[in-house]
Amino acid sequence: MPILPTLLGLSSQKVCNTPVCHQIAETLKHDVDFNLDPCQDFYAFTCGGWIPSAVLPPDQSQVSIISNLDNKHVETIHRILEGSFEDLARRSSHSSLWNDPEIDRANFALVKNYYNSCMDQAALDRLGSAPVYPSLVDILNYTDLTDALLKLVDNANHALVRFTIGTDDKEPSKNRIWIDIGHFMAPSKSNYKDQPFVEKYKERLFNLMHAIIGPGVDLANPDVASTLARTKFQLLTTEQLHTAIDRFILVEMFLADTTLEAEDALNPALSYNPITVNSLEEKYPVLDWRRILATMVPDPSFIPEEVLVTAISYLENLTTWLQTTHDIDALLHDYFLVRHAYIKAPLMSEKINLLYSAINDDLFSGVNKLSPLWKRCTEQVSADFGPLTGRYYIMENFGGEDERLALLNFLDGIHDSWRSNLPKLDWLDKQTLEYAMLKLSKITRQAGYSIKSPDVRSPSSLRDYYDGLAMNAAAYYENVESVYRWSYSELLDKLLKPVDKDEWEMSPQTVNAYYTPTANQMVVTAGISAPPYYLPEAPDYLNYGALGVVAAHEITHAFDNDGRLYNGDGELKNWWTNETLQKFNDKTQCFIDQYSKFVEKNDKGEEQHLNGKLTLSENLADNGGIAVSYAAYQAVAKVKPQETLPGINLTPDQLFFINLGRAWCTKATPASIMNQIQTDPHSTSRARVNGMVQNLEAFAQVFKCPVNSPMNPQTKCKVW
Ligand SMILES: [Zn+2]
Repeated sequence: MPILPTLLGLSSQKVCNTPVCHQIAETLKHDVDFNLDPCQDFYAFTCGGWIPSAVLPPDQSQVSIISNLDNKHVETIHRILEGSFEDLARRSSHSSLWNDPEIDRANFALVKNYYNSCMDQAALDRLGSAPVYPSLVDILNYTDLTDALLKLVDNANHALVRFTIGTDDKEPSKNRIWIDIGHFMAPSKSNYKDQPFVEKYKERLFNLMHAIIGPGVDLANPDVASTLARTKFQLLTTEQLHTAIDRFILVEMFLADTTLEAEDALNPALSYNPITVNSLEEKYPVLDWRRILATMVPDPSFIPEEVLVTAISYLENLTTWLQTTHDIDALLHDYFLVRHAYIKAPLMSEKINLLYSAINDDLFSGVNKLSPLWKRCTEQVSADFGPLTGRYYIMENFGGEDERLALLNFLDGIHDSWRSNLPKLDWLDKQTLEYAMLKLSKITRQAGYSIKSPDVRSPSSLRDYYDGLAMNAAAYYENVESVYRWSYSELLDKLLKPVDKDEWEMSPQTVNAYYTPTANQMVVTAGISAPPYYLPEAPDYLNYGALGVVAAHEITHAFDNDGRLYNGDGELKNWWTNETLQKFNDKTQCFIDQYSKFVEKNDKGEEQHLNGKLTLSENLADNGGIAVSYAAYQAVAKVKPQETLPGINLTPDQLFFINLGRAWCTKATPASIMNQIQTDPHSTSRARVNGMVQNLEAFAQVFKCPVNSPMNPQTKCKVW
């Protein structure tokens, strides 16, 4: 039964008649299915028009409001990279960020050359698999396991153990050496227990390896033939290939087996394990730890006494496995060989890219088409030169300082709302509440683009940031290696410096936001501060329903089951009384139970339940996000009368929730949904939207949902 009649009665409400409001109204009429009952399945209601009409492109595992926005940004950056610096100047010289054009021109040449090298399909096809042989020979020429891992790291391949530099969670101003686990290639550890999956994986790996290191190598290609002759790399026979792939899979199965469950890997209390280098040597003598650490510091006197380990159990299992596995040397040799050829495949010819895509896209996420070259290249340049491409994106699509400051102002409003919300929660005792208020007051906010490390507004800051990096328009493979070497050496340089809280974890054009517990800082990018999430000229209820909820979600991460472990100075240090902590745990159990009941269907039509434990932190953030942003919007609406949308008989309050639901509309392949359930701390879109509104009393009132209707259950979970 159509729901509209029950929602009528808005004659006294003023209507917004601006072109923006008319345009939004038209979009909403298309996206929402007004024939459905919002109290039955709110996600189906808000996305009921959008989902059936959304076309899942064959090169994407999902299409969503977010992926569409992301594609729009990719197209903007593509246009910039295809054009000249003069084209950019013509379009962007009005921006408040436009300055120092001569330095900017030199910076632009970096990304332009990189992009051109990636787009030169003829050159990539001519080289075929040739570029990989020198590094393969170098790697396989190892003297012992330590030497092998070091050679792999030199070639952008972190196998078995990952060495990195990162913040010390207990002393968050300091950078430390971290030892992390080695990763397998498939999306989730459960894939390795799925026999049909493993068989397909082997078969497609065989096809790929056949073309790179086996009998399928194109010996008629002069570059390939001469590189093989020069490096003396021995191609494998069909039989050797099968053996090598079996061995590769055996090693990956070990890695999958010993990797922690996704929810444990995310727990900061479990993944912070200091250990002395002496103990490493004593307990895990399978590697020469000092020799490896020496490559990460300016000279051996800088080797720290202690390092941090994310999973001690992994080092234990790895040691035993290396010491007791039959034929381990042959196993490792072939593992390194196949892994290296595999991860370098995307840098080779179109033919090899297609074989790679059959694994990475089709088998892993149900995507049966390789993205067009321009898209892959734009995404690569955008990822590797985030702040620089971000600068050009900002000037073209976001604006400049006025827009950034307006966005910060919006975030301040959300932060204020969190501050008003907190004292209303009666389950926190006085001491914990006071500390929570202190932590909240210390949350710093950044928005749009970074203004320090580097300063996206300043071509000279960007020039200094990329100092030492050169790009050759005719050498894609070498360019990718250069970017890696540059970024790895930048990473190592951090060890001797204090943590730089002004360096962002995302590029400005990324459609996302984040909270860093060790910095007690939230960042909302320019990329997500765009319609339908945010548009300064749009009615407030739409901005609060979408970007407001995102921003409040990020602040809530400071108080979720993981974030709550850090204090206001970003230290992993308890500030909770036992009594209040007990109440927190009881309350979070409600969310675990609620979200574990949501199901999605796999490709066989079988129902799979969400993992309420894995998704707890994100679900808490979502629920804090909706409550706080709704309160922020109510405060605004009190002083600023809200006009409704033309031709849509819904109240501003209803439209707040509708834009929230719409923000998550998604259509995805079953494989990608199953991967998400197994590995992603975010619940699937339907669960996110319906989970949030089920818990909010105001939603039920606004839509007049009867008690015990699916979207208005009697049991409501609430923490923040
Ligand atoms: Zn989150």
